[in-house]
Amino acid sequence: MDGILIVMSGFSGAGKGTLLKRLLNDYEDFAFSVSMTTRSPREGEVDGKDYFFVTKEKFEEVIEADGLYEHATYCGNYYGTPRAYVDEQLKNGKSVILDIEVQGAKQIKEKFPDTLMIFVTPPSIKTLRARLEGRGTETKEVIDKRINRAKEESLWIDNYEYVVINDDLDTAVKEMYGIIMAQKFQTKRLGGFISDIKNELENI
Ligand code: ADP
Ligand code: 5GP
Repeated sequence: MDGILIVMSGFSGAGKGTLLKRLLNDYEDFAFSVSMTTRSPREGEVDGKDYFFVTKEKFEEVIEADGLYEHATYCGNYYGTPRAYVDEQLKNGKSVILDIEVQGAKQIKEKFPDTLMIFVTPPSIKTLRARLEGRGTETKEVIDKRINRAKEESLWIDNYEYVVINDDLDTAVKEMYGIIMAQKFQTKRLGGFISDIKNELENI
């Protein structure tokens, strides 16, 4: 069965990274698209695993060389999806998950209309702030910026086909997996299998 392209967006602090780690850990056949960014690494983040951390100049070179499927600016930094890895994983039958913000998500959906679009939210904005503060990776000023940005992002939720409310993590992981599986078994994605069955029946 072919892999599918999955976009996961959501407010900063909603738990996208946490959900993704669990999905990759608990289930096979998923690949995470490692993005390129000009933001500085957080403590514990690994270059090439969490992101490709690059300078603004390098990022602009990659844009020029058409090396990205999409890119956007988020709170003063560039973020983008390198083409090569996504292509390779899809070719190998893996489903590829993109953790990207709303503008990039729109670009991907326009290029690949079959993309599964999932929006992750916390159960409330109070919880969102508590999670961002609890993560402890940003200053209060940056947290405020990210929450302001969430206001804008909330206007884009209708572009998404599914919403996952990340309250209890185990439940959210299972819901996310369920959504992806349902998508994989859509009739339109099983064209090859269906024609094989029909051929077999014709030859009886
Ligand atoms: P994002 O990638 O969306 O910015 P993170 O995955 O970094 O968010 O999560 C933000 C913070 O919230 C982290 O400290 C994470 O451990 C915590 N977190 C994520 N999901 C849950 C959950 N379901 N319940 C409680 N805390 C959570
Ligand atoms: P963070 O700095 O918290 O890792 O990410 C900030 C925002 O950038 C998140 O909404 C995340 O989904 C988004 N993001 C990460 N990688 C990409 C990317 O390649 N393209 C786009 N458009 N957004 C990205």
